[in-house]
Amino acid sequence: MKDLLPKGVRVQGERGIAFVIAGPSGAGKSSVISALLSRDPRLVFSVSATTRPRRPDELHGRDYYFLSEEEFDRLIAQGELLEWTTYQGYRYGTPKAEVVDRLKDGLDVVLNVEVHGARAIRAAGLGFPVVLIFLVPPSWEELVRRVRSRGTESEEALAERLRIARAEIQCIPEFDYLVVNDALPEAVARVEAIIQAERMRIIRCA
Ligand code: 5GP
Repeated sequence: MKDLLPKGVRVQGERGIAFVIAGPSGAGKSSVISALLSRDPRLVFSVSATTRPRRPDELHGRDYYFLSEEEFDRLIAQGELLEWTTYQGYRYGTPKAEVVDRLKDGLDVVLNVEVHGARAIRAAGLGFPVVLIFLVPPSWEELVRRVRSRGTESEEALAERLRIARAEIQCIPEFDYLVVNDALPEAVARVEAIIQAERMRIIRCA
């Protein structure tokens, strides 16, 4: 296809793109991302570092790098994190290598972060396109139901997640796309449509 393009034009998908998926607790970010990764070999997941304890269904190196406070401190001190934040008393951060090295290899990177992380990744000036996607449940009522049904946390922690969710929703104007997750297959298809469209975007280079 390249041989028929006029001079000074390329499609965005020739190079790596970062797709940042944010959204409140209960939006279903992890489920949507797992489905995306299983269907598209060009997508790779940016595994974050965290000081949160591992949940029974999670794997070190696949879902997160589960680190001690000291190990996390070291990553910050060595400048190895693209961004990091504190969420419900635990620290979460994006290792630079997870994102930058893969984008340079021409892969598309998917990130699961909260809103401050999304903002910071866009502001980081990676030299690669960053697409911000905000995922929401179909209603506030459904969000509360999903957060409750997780059942892994205390009432206090649940209330805190809801408070954070309310604040996160206020950040929607900073995002490029809003995807409603009413049913997983539809939500996955919507995000895939965004990914396809962004890869086909025409870039005019001088
Ligand atoms: P959880 O503990 O439920 O896995 O994640 C809590 C929150 O931290 C979620 O909103 C998730 O998107 C966010 N998160 C996970 N990894 C990162 C990261 O590397 N950076 C930022 N800023 N947020 C993260």
